[in-house]
Amino acid sequence: MKRRESIEVQVGKVGIGADNPIRIQSMTNTPTSDVDATVSQIIELIEAGSELVRFTVKDFKDAEAVPKIKEKLEQEKYDAPLIGDFHYNGHLLLKKYPEAAQALDKLRINPGNVGFGNSHDSNFKMIIDKAIEFGKPVRIGVNFGSIDQRIFMRLMDENSKKEQEEQKSSEELVVEAMCQSAVESENLAKEYGMKPNKIILSAKVSDVSSVVNAYTELAKLTKQPLHLGLTEAGMGEKGIIATAAALSTILNKGIGDTIRVSLTPRPGASRTEEVKVAQQILQANGLRSFLPSVTSCPGCGRTSSALFQEIAEEITEYLQKRAKEWKKAGKKGFEEMRVAVMGCVVNGLGESRNANIGLSLPGSGEDPVSPVYADGKEITRLHGETRISDFKKLIEEYVENHY
Ligand code: SF4
Repeated sequence: MKRRESIEVQVGKVGIGADNPIRIQSMTNTPTSDVDATVSQIIELIEAGSELVRFTVKDFKDAEAVPKIKEKLEQEKYDAPLIGDFHYNGHLLLKKYPEAAQALDKLRINPGNVGFGNSHDSNFKMIIDKAIEFGKPVRIGVNFGSIDQRIFMRLMDENSKKEQEEQKSSEELVVEAMCQSAVESENLAKEYGMKPNKIILSAKVSDVSSVVNAYTELAKLTKQPLHLGLTEAGMGEKGIIATAAALSTILNKGIGDTIRVSLTPRPGASRTEEVKVAQQILQANGLRSFLPSVTSCPGCGRTSSALFQEIAEEITEYLQKRAKEWKKAGKKGFEEMRVAVMGCVVNGLGESRNANIGLSLPGSGEDPVSPVYADGKEITRLHGETRISDFKKLIEEYVENHY
């Protein structure tokens, strides 16, 4: 897939846009002023694979905590870029605590709530000035929930004066207002002296078709890198499926330079779910690889017992655990390994041949052996109780010989 051309923006040690890999980022939900809790969650997110981490900076206590968070992370040897999320009062916080701007690697500005009426442009300028002073990039992040009312009202007004058949739908107006807000803010930031290689844009909506349309349009209007996200995606399966549908569609148009998955975590659940989902979206679309993948069939009346499901589950968990160790051992390329675990030979042999290494279990009425293929050739047939451990040994040998 040909990716949309974009300017490279350096955020701390991480490049975003141009030919850089599509980056994964996440956001904390601890009170930022609680330095220990925030540092601990940032480390958890980084360990899960988040390449950049954002946290809210909503008041003076949060702003005061920013350099302390940075310092503690440095002491613990974590250097992932940190992003401060500012709404309403960012200009005041950064004026009083310039150390916060200095400690952050990127500032997120929402043009829909940076200020209202005459104060909008001056507040926006104050944040841009601080970013320029400390050499930091910004993300101008437009969000449907806080859309710039000046632009939206202007478009509604223009629309109402058109002939009825030419009038745009409310969804079209939302998309247009978001794109205009992002691009007008980009131009304003440049007018205030910000260099093009310091600006990232986003236009998030919570509805799948609108977010696809917003990014499709925005991509035509700017060369800045785009941060993708379906905002307020929701909880559990609903949030994951909606996010995967939206982001996959946009990414498959070649659009997007960094992604964030905005899931509502279940009470007490780890915040890292959003990072794992982001990795799986990129891997399923063939854009990056993070973990060996398991191809397994759904099973049907031909699967002779629950053994097939148990093996598929055990091999999936085994690969996740071993991947961390292979990585520590300096192995490279194993992330792209495909392992097949199939319920019977009907599709099992084809999938096993197509995988790096694959096992087919015997279906009901089949010869009770499990053929194993590696690199398209049958290498052995496994029998009996030791099948799982024997298959794990074959995977280990495969990794040892190939990566
Ligand atoms: S591979 Fe065999 S067990 Fe799996 S779904 Fe297909 S026919 Fe059923």
